[in-house]
Amino acid sequence: MDTYAVHLAMAALVGASFVAVSAYYMHRKTLNQLLEFAKSVERESDETTPRTTTTRRSIPRSTPRSGGATAAGGRGMAITAALRRPVTLPLLFKIIGNALEKQQACLKYNGEIANQDVVDVEVVDSTIVILAASGCHWKSPSHASSTKRAGHLIRPTSPKSPVASASAFESVEGSDDEDNMTDNAKLNAYIHTNGNVVPECNSLFKDLPSQNNANGEQIPIAASSMIRSHSVSGDLHGVQPDPVAADILRKEPEHETFVRLNITPNEMPSPEEADVYRNLQACLELRQSYVFREAITPWEKEVISDPSTPKPNPSPFDYTPEGKSDHYFKMEDGVAHVYANEDSKEKLFPVADATTFFTDLHHILKVIAAGNIRTLCHHRLVLLEQKFSLHLMLNADREFLAQKSAPHRDFYNVRKVDTHVHHSACMNQKHLLRFIKSKLRKEPDEVVIFRDGTYLTLKEVFESLDLTGYDLNVDLLDVHADKSTFHRFDKFNLKYNPCGQSRLREIFLKQENLIQGMSLFSHLSEMLKLHVEKGFSFLFCRFLAELTKQVFSDLAASKYQMAEYRISIYGRKMSEWDQMASWIVNNDLYSENVVWLIQLPRLYNVYKEMGIVTSFQNILDNIFLPLFEVTVDPDSHPQLHVFLKQVVGLDLVDDESKPERRPTKHMPTPAQWTNIFNPAFSYYVYYCYANLYTLNKLRESKGMTTIKFRPHTGEAGDIDHLAASFLTAHNIAHGINLRKSPVLQYLYYLAQIGLAMSPLSNNSLFLDYHRNPFPMFFSRGLNVSLSTDDPLQIHLTKEPLVEEYSIAASVWKLSSCDLCEIARNSVYQSGFSHALKSHWIGKEYYKRGPDGNDIHRTNVPRIRLEFRDLIWREEMQLVYLGNASFAEYMEP
Ligand SMILES: [Zn+2]
Repeated sequence: MDTYAVHLAMAALVGASFVAVSAYYMHRKTLNQLLEFAKSVERESDETTPRTTTTRRSIPRSTPRSGGATAAGGRGMAITAALRRPVTLPLLFKIIGNALEKQQACLKYNGEIANQDVVDVEVVDSTIVILAASGCHWKSPSHASSTKRAGHLIRPTSPKSPVASASAFESVEGSDDEDNMTDNAKLNAYIHTNGNVVPECNSLFKDLPSQNNANGEQIPIAASSMIRSHSVSGDLHGVQPDPVAADILRKEPEHETFVRLNITPNEMPSPEEADVYRNLQACLELRQSYVFREAITPWEKEVISDPSTPKPNPSPFDYTPEGKSDHYFKMEDGVAHVYANEDSKEKLFPVADATTFFTDLHHILKVIAAGNIRTLCHHRLVLLEQKFSLHLMLNADREFLAQKSAPHRDFYNVRKVDTHVHHSACMNQKHLLRFIKSKLRKEPDEVVIFRDGTYLTLKEVFESLDLTGYDLNVDLLDVHADKSTFHRFDKFNLKYNPCGQSRLREIFLKQENLIQGMSLFSHLSEMLKLHVEKGFSFLFCRFLAELTKQVFSDLAASKYQMAEYRISIYGRKMSEWDQMASWIVNNDLYSENVVWLIQLPRLYNVYKEMGIVTSFQNILDNIFLPLFEVTVDPDSHPQLHVFLKQVVGLDLVDDESKPERRPTKHMPTPAQWTNIFNPAFSYYVYYCYANLYTLNKLRESKGMTTIKFRPHTGEAGDIDHLAASFLTAHNIAHGINLRKSPVLQYLYYLAQIGLAMSPLSNNSLFLDYHRNPFPMFFSRGLNVSLSTDDPLQIHLTKEPLVEEYSIAASVWKLSSCDLCEIARNSVYQSGFSHALKSHWIGKEYYKRGPDGNDIHRTNVPRIRLEFRDLIWREEMQLVYLGNASFAEYMEP
């Protein structure tokens, strides 16, 4: 053997060993230094701040060995444990290197907060190391973050592109990777750095939460991190309460603060803009001069001191004679005027006459058509939408957190009112089918219809249709809207005929059949079925009453859902009111979850053609004179008197897309309206409004309930429908056409007029779901609620209102906070009593802004309403050029 080669080999071996050994020691030294460094940091913070388990609990759980150690020791152990793992070594270096850098950077900025600069290293499982630090500008939003979050922290903190998120859900739930670092965390980071560099920036953010624990340490909060911390701790240690979460849950939700948007510069409108704003002011003031408002608000009339649930009325239909007053009323040019007595010449409740109304309407129409006004309003609306997006980006997590901390409440048990639903379509198709089958089984020999000179029993009707109960199914029933109904209001109405048979509709969905011995208007209904509006129904059907009661009991069972059913009065004869009232009273149709609206189909031309009426005045007489009679002398129609206590509104219904001629300033009076054409929408609006106005004034003066004007408007047709309702209506149903007029949309926003929108119904009739403006209106802050319109034709499930919310939430990504806000709006828009509203949405629900909110009842965070109120006030100040004055309370 060549010794030289052997020596060489030995030397190489020794050299390599030496290198290896020295490398090992160097390595170890570095590690020890790091360990020492970590410990020194630990000591430092221990010396300056007595720590609580709240902020350090994340470490000891890392390995079994650290279980019994003190928190500080535990932290060291955790690091050691991590160091032993070769797999994690490079990662750890990277983290700690990063940590050092950050630490130094942090110290540079923030010498005084060195005590808070804690490096937490946490081993969640064998391969993943989590690094979390608190109290510095690069802190993680939570100690016990998820593994994904850790991934973020070791990434360079390049700012994520600020994509405007359209909903809270997007930023909370849709955060799989990129979005994992919550907006809150980034915001905090931004503020901490900024706050020191530019001190005056602090004022902008002075309302940021200063979530300090007892030791003055900052506890970062972020809703999404709270969720994850729960799940992580659950995975590792079973159910272990998260002290941070618990700490926040203990706080009153009202104490949540939020990041206020302060992006509106001090805008000085140019002279032209000021001119536009003055025009808008004039429109708003016109509305104020028209709309009926109660002189004494319900909350002044009735102070609720008892916080318990309002007792249901044990005898809602009891009549106590009230006596007649001296009031005298007569129709003058289509409007009933009231006098103190028969001899008095002075109108007690003057109301704007038709010429004034149409003049004002034309003024509004002129304003909404002006190019410069349209442009400005459009800009304002877009800005409103952007502000809401920004609010969500900054505060969605806080909102969600506030919702979580409201005990007991969630979307399912906040009250929601179906603010727009037609009574004759209020059951779903399966319910109707089951009902028809059960009637056919149990009462086959009931005489139900008079047809072609003979009386037919239910069984005979089915025989004449060649149908048995067994044949019936939902498809045969064929009441559901489908694609054939789109833009075909007429076909939609035909869907009201079960099995395409008007006979079945007469029996089950209409009133004037034989069951209570009423004569049939079969010829009429045959005529009407081609023309009537949705929600068509007649009086006096026992079957319909039974069906209604079943729907009532379904509502009662759901407890948190209420409905405002619309039921038709046609104005063909005066006795309709008494018939309706006796149907309600005799069938005992009362529910704590239900109030009634009267809907008036705009069918003058149909009745005129049929010879039922001679002029439009006949219809007005038939509708309003009985109401004045019963108000002056309740004894004259006792059943109607008690029924009216549950009637909260008057609605106008029919196909708005029918062509019509826009009214001029000087229109014929209703008595002169004898031609065969249907008057325009705004003509109906004015006469209903004016008569209702004097009626309400009279009823209010006698201490009776009032009836608000709440027409269907803006579902289709001309924009002047929405202008007419803007002047006169309390709130409206639909309003989707507001998307076509930025000026009116802006005015509806400023006046906060309620819109009871039904996107699923629109989808069947006039507007595809994905084009529906609901989400846009909601973002902009219009006062919107969701409603079902016609569950029989549209919905598939037992809870149509929840179905409506559910689809909206899915398609438009509405968050739980959004849904609860919409539900709150619906209660606010509804006509339920002051006592019930107080119970449902909070004792002081009538106060403006966040003071009117009670998160314990509505599950709407204060933050949301504070934001809405803030933005609305800013907008009003702008329109009123800084001179807006705000009443403390909302308008009744
Ligand atoms: Zn409707």
